[in-house]
Amino acid sequence: MKVKGFKNPGKTVTGNRRPWAIKAKVLQLILEASRETYPNEFSAALRAEDGIIVEVVMLPGTLQGEAAAILQLHMLPANYGAVGTVHSHPSGVIRPSEQDLRLFDGFGLVHIIVGEPFANDSWHAFDAFGNPIELEVLS
Ligand code: ZN
Repeated sequence: MKVKGFKNPGKTVTGNRRPWAIKAKVLQLILEASRETYPNEFSAALRAEDGIIVEVVMLPGTLQGEAAAILQLHMLPANYGAVGTVHSHPSGVIRPSEQDLRLFDGFGLVHIIVGEPFANDSWHAFDAFGNPIELEVLS
């Protein structure tokens, strides 16, 4: 799949810089949704304000699977503040799969992967190229 229009992470369509933090309650929501969706995969887009991820965006008719969050991100309006994606790995392996890396490929600014058992530390953030990045959790 080829996604156009998000190729330069430094100058995104959203005008947002790469988020440096995520609200604790957003992270909790992600972990809960991932537990509920297990053994299937949960995926959604992430919205940020002023560099802080403040919302998980689940569009109607959400598909499951690795490509779903990326497709959702692409469908959101450019000024919506969408900065990346989140999806779960029921396998518990918290790193991008080969398919993830192909889908991320310069797309969005941050991609969170959460892994089973979906505990508070069962997650990590990655940039558009699959490199691990730090995200602070704000209460
Ligand atoms: Zn994945």
